[in-house]
Amino acid sequence: MREANTMAEGQAEGPAGGSSRTSAGATGGLGPEGTPRVALVTGANRGIGLACAERLLAEGYRVALGHRDTPPPARAVEGSEGRAMAVRLDVTDPEQVEAAFASVEGAWGPVEVLVANAGITRDTLLLRMGEEDWQQVLDTDLTGVYRVARRALGPMVRARRGRLVLISSVVAHVGSPGQANYAAAKAGLVGFARSLAREVGSRGITVNVVAPGVVTTDMLAAAGEARGAQLTAMVPLGRAASPAEVAGAVSFLCSPDASYVTGAVLPVDGGLAMGL
Ligand code: NAD
Repeated sequence: MREANTMAEGQAEGPAGGSSRTSAGATGGLGPEGTPRVALVTGANRGIGLACAERLLAEGYRVALGHRDTPPPARAVEGSEGRAMAVRLDVTDPEQVEAAFASVEGAWGPVEVLVANAGITRDTLLLRMGEEDWQQVLDTDLTGVYRVARRALGPMVRARRGRLVLISSVVAHVGSPGQANYAAAKAGLVGFARSLAREVGSRGITVNVVAPGVVTTDMLAAAGEARGAQLTAMVPLGRAASPAEVAGAVSFLCSPDASYVTGAVLPVDGGLAMGL
């Protein structure tokens, strides 16, 4: 895995150049000039973020995989023909946000697609929830999205095109005991996205939210087996989602097929919240 500022040549090789990773017929990764579009995914070293990065790579995008500590696995860039780079990006650190965007811009040009995926939980009942549990979750899951969205938007406004996809949660709509901090942050993303969608719609930029339900990642594992089983039992489709199923929805919102979709919340929850 290469860090951003050590990218090798050949980055412009996109699906038109015959990338073996490009799925047949997928054109979402190509910009108007036929070159690969530049995407940045936060929290892309595992789980849903990694699945989103892999999906966008498969569609021909150039993808910067943001990571806080552990870098993404090497397989994430194998065969990507220089279209993948790892960038250190802790969304709670404004300096890292600036440095990560500057690295991507230096290597590839402006970020055209932002997937704000990074998130944490600090679950406990409100009566036991200290300020730190509250602040950490809000700072990562809501303010972290503000930081990356704000940094991404300037070049998008100048280019008069761009896609923002924010990863919220079914919990934003239905609540969850022990997750008042997380639910508040994830619900905040909906109002944030809809306000932004109104601010930048006239510039050709869309802002949408994906609200996953129960997804088989480390975050779900951390909730405990019993809680995971309890949640899954409530899902009409009767199972948890794979990260790839969430990535499919993200990919759609980044694609030309979603050119007239903005301010939307797309549930990927097996029917858990029945479209809320
Ligand atoms: P995960 O814990 O595997 O992934 C979370 C990612 O965010 C990790 O890569 C982690 O390093 C990163 N991250 C955490 N803090 C960060 C920070 N300060 N800066 C940068 N990166 C940071 O869990 P996941 O399920 O893949 O979660 C991805 C997103 O999906 C999260 O926003 C989560 O809230 C949301 N989500 C998950 C589920 C689920 O059931 N797993 C359901 C609904 C929503």
